[in-house]
Amino acid sequence: MPQVRADLEALTRIPSVSLDAFDQAHVEASAEATAELLRAEGLEVEIVREGGRPAVIGHRPGPPGSRTVMLYAHHDVQPPGDEALWDTPPFEPTERDGRLYGRGAADDKAGVMAHVAALRAHGDDLPVGVTVFVEGEEEIGSDSLPTILERHGERLRADAIVLADSQNWDVGEPALTTTLRGMIRVVVTVTTLDHGVHSGMFGGAVPDAITALVRLLATMHDDAGDVAVTGLDAGEASDLDYPESRLRAESGLLDGVEVIGTGSLLSRLWTRPAITTIGLDVPTIERSSNTLVPSARAKVSMRLAPTQDDLAAFEALKAHLLANAPWGAQVEVELEERGLGFAADAQGPVYDQARAAFTDAWGTEPVDIGVGGSIPFVAAFAERFPDAAILVTGVEDPDTRAHGANESLHLAEFEAVCLAEALLLGRLGALPA
Ligand SMILES: [Zn+2]
Repeated sequence: MPQVRADLEALTRIPSVSLDAFDQAHVEASAEATAELLRAEGLEVEIVREGGRPAVIGHRPGPPGSRTVMLYAHHDVQPPGDEALWDTPPFEPTERDGRLYGRGAADDKAGVMAHVAALRAHGDDLPVGVTVFVEGEEEIGSDSLPTILERHGERLRADAIVLADSQNWDVGEPALTTTLRGMIRVVVTVTTLDHGVHSGMFGGAVPDAITALVRLLATMHDDAGDVAVTGLDAGEASDLDYPESRLRAESGLLDGVEVIGTGSLLSRLWTRPAITTIGLDVPTIERSSNTLVPSARAKVSMRLAPTQDDLAAFEALKAHLLANAPWGAQVEVELEERGLGFAADAQGPVYDQARAAFTDAWGTEPVDIGVGGSIPFVAAFAERFPDAAILVTGVEDPDTRAHGANESLHLAEFEAVCLAEALLLGRLGALPA
């Protein structure tokens, strides 16, 4: 582990932010560094680009007749955000209280290093063929991933795929992520007037677009806070204990503010749709005047049940918004982004071996969890390799703060993650064909 830790720190020092506004030389450097780590483990490595950021593909064959396992992670990171909010510099990995702080120290350079650690654990006696695929643009939406899968798919083909970019249930409580929600994002434009007019002269008889928009947005939920759009899939989450107090603590919900929706909390977070307004184009308070605003826009993000077709969800939301236009206001709904969810077939020999490997590494059985967020690349892999068993694992825990200030990795958990992956490779190698 000391060398794994040192290599993780070196990777974390590279500020490989894939967002356009940042210097992409660092993303090139992190691809190179990743390639070098894999070459050192005897993999044949190539850096590929298909119109996006550099991805690293490495392969090492296993014994004749052995299975092939693909190990995925990403080497790009989120921007650091406001550096004043960090207790220590984001790209200077620092240990405090058993956690390693730094942007990417967890998401997902620890995923990269978990794969490297599993390879190192087996040294010259790799029990399975391994293909490592480390993407360079996960944090900006994996735009060129479909092309990479199309052009390099044969090299990536595997019997089992380990996607190390998710989380465990808690420190000391391992998990396999078996469902992810899909998502759509739309822009809603509400127009009531062909130009702005004096609010004193016309207010009272003529509706303004902001009020109409706000009333429209309010129809997306019922009084209990459940999504009021009809025709959407909704499922039930696994039966794990998740008290409201934990939700309140993890989300920072203020005292007195109610939790919304009905049904089990985890179903609301993992397997049912959710709608949030995430942005508004209206005059700012500073620039506002006594005017009936003619047109206003909102950006709406909807999370989808894992089995939901994303385009069908868009049609349902669009139909709802058009049908509920207040006072005959003109409503336009534009689809900006969509992504399918994921519901694993979490059964069979590969899952059995994964659960056994996790149990050996942690001393406690893993649970199946969902993730309320969307990881679009998981659906891309599921679509491209329908016969492969897909395991979504990860290094994060509830205190990781991936994407936020003071992102960190729990170092003892990370050791268990590395051990579990090494044991998994061994178990898959021993499994009869
Ligand atoms: Zn990630």
